[in-house]
Amino acid sequence: MFRKTFTVTSSQEGDIIDLTMEVKNAIRESGVRNGVAHLFVQHSTAALTTIEFEPGVLADLKRSLSVFAPDNVPYAHDSRWGDGNGRSHVKAALVGPSLMVPVSSGALACGTWQQIVLLELDVNAGRERTVCCTVMGE
Ligand code: ZN
Repeated sequence: MFRKTFTVTSSQEGDIIDLTMEVKNAIRESGVRNGVAHLFVQHSTAALTTIEFEPGVLADLKRSLSVFAPDNVPYAHDSRWGDGNGRSHVKAALVGPSLMVPVSSGALACGTWQQIVLLELDVNAGRERTVCCTVMGE
C-alpha cells in the first residue's frame, strides 16, 4: 500500500481543478502495476469526480449543481453556523468526497476524455485543498 497526500489551491467558488497528472504521478511513485487508486478530499465543501475537461461541460456541471443547491434560498447551516456556505456543503455531499480508479499495467485506466477533477464548491475563495491518494495492488 502506498499513500501520498497532495494539496491544490483554488481561487474561487466553482473552480474545477484537473488532478489527473498528480494521480498519474502517485501511481508511478507507488510502483503498483495492477490494482486501484483511491482518492479522498479531506474537506466538506470540495468534491471529487471525473469529467471531460472541456469548458462547455464544466459550465454545465456548475449550472446543474446550482439547480440542486441554488444560491438564492436560505440554508439552515448558514443560520446555525454563519459561514454562508450552506449550498457548498450540500453540493459537496451530493457529488461525494472520494473516487476509486483502476490501475492497469502501471497506468491510470481512465477513458481518453475522462479527467479526475476536484470541485471547489466553497463560497469563501482561495482555499488550499488536501487530497489523500492511496494506491493498492501489486
Ligand atoms: Zn460551513
